[in-house]
Amino acid sequence: MGRRQTMQEKYKQQMKAYRKKRMKVDNTPFLPPDGNVYVMNSLDPTKEIKIEVLKTHTKQHREVITSLACPVCGNPMTWDSKWEAFICVKHGEKAIYEIVNKG
Ligand SMILES: [Zn+2]
Repeated sequence: MGRRQTMQEKYKQQMKAYRKKRMKVDNTPFLPPDGNVYVMNSLDPTKEIKIEVLKTHTKQHREVITSLACPVCGNPMTWDSKWEAFICVKHGEKAIYEIVNKG
């Protein structure tokens, strides 16, 4: 009986932790271990562009991308969680760069 209760408690705790984690979901992309970030212009998704990482920050022991340099104008772009992309509005047309997931 005692053992069963502990298992149940453990499960409850895990669920609680899981829910807490899910609420905190932030879809900002992580920096790949090799540090190479590739993006794709959503208007021209055939081309992969290697992009310069300007800034990262550490979150939950992982490196998160704070800003990337726009491949066209070089201005820093930050993550837009609504678009799930890095967006540049500094070189005329709005450019939306999606992160290419390599593996
Ligand atoms: Zn730009």
